[in-house]
Amino acid sequence: MNDFNYSRSESVEESIEALLSKNNAKPIAGGTNLLDLMKYRVENPDHIVDITQLPFDRIESTSNGGLRLGALVTNATTAYEPKVEKNYPLLAKAILSGASAQLRNAATNGGNLMQRTRCFYFYDTATPCNKREPGSGCSAVEGFNRIHAILGTSEHCIATHPSDMCVALAALNAVVEVQGKEGERRIPILEFHRLPGNIPERDTNLASDEIITSIELPSKGFSKNFAYVKVRDRPSYAFALVSVAAALELDGNMIKDIRVALGGVAHKPWRLPNVEQKFIGKEATKENFEGLSSQLLNGAIGFGDNDFKIALAHRTILRALMEAKQL
Ligand code: SF4
Repeated sequence: MNDFNYSRSESVEESIEALLSKNNAKPIAGGTNLLDLMKYRVENPDHIVDITQLPFDRIESTSNGGLRLGALVTNATTAYEPKVEKNYPLLAKAILSGASAQLRNAATNGGNLMQRTRCFYFYDTATPCNKREPGSGCSAVEGFNRIHAILGTSEHCIATHPSDMCVALAALNAVVEVQGKEGERRIPILEFHRLPGNIPERDTNLASDEIITSIELPSKGFSKNFAYVKVRDRPSYAFALVSVAAALELDGNMIKDIRVALGGVAHKPWRLPNVEQKFIGKEATKENFEGLSSQLLNGAIGFGDNDFKIALAHRTILRALMEAKQL
């Protein structure tokens, strides 16, 4: 790990000022990903801005019947919050399927959104990686790519986004609330993370002077018919090969609303609302779920070692939707 300077901010304004004025500065809260990246010398900030004293450590109901999750609330506190357990069990289940109990006790909601890919080559500074060193090449395209993306890839990067929590947030239409030098803004979760394109070094659309303050959940939590299915190499403390957050609103057997978000398959949680729309008003049958799955995975491409993910994603989508229907 390289030497770095450290300061602690007492307000958002102070944090933003520190991030803008210090050379190569990074905010830190739980630090569960950033510190690893620093030890591997993947991230080498000259200055660390500790934001743990900022007033974003609460979970509050919103005036429109939703919930606001503070960016500094830990993943564990969020998952075990009674209002989350009752109204957003999909989110609680997704969070508890991620990382380990110790990590969830330290990791924050804002940090979960900002965590970086677990592509092996990204962490191995002896290999080319466009995300770590723009223009150096992508070792994964022709390398060992079993854990890599099948959707939304570019020739410059085929990494996946590692979060479970964000897959559930995508299904729930969460909104990320941020504050920067120019003020506050709200970013729909589907627009928060990016596909790699030709700037794979950028994971999100957060500006360099912005800090995540909270995540807003709309009132509709799909607490009756939901499923989070995560397929991974071992039953705990492993990232998803494929994960699916499925949510249904049913009128008898008729689909009133449907959401399907995928993890482990793209550079961001993968969701196609225009495809979901086509299935509203249809029967909640296995055949219709298969049709939806085919359209969600239209254009999926494997890179050799990860070819199996296409069939696995089909089966996982189907299983999640059938599970959601039967709850
Ligand atoms: Fe780097 Fe992305 Fe290629 Fe992995 S997939 S080596 S993160 S450019």
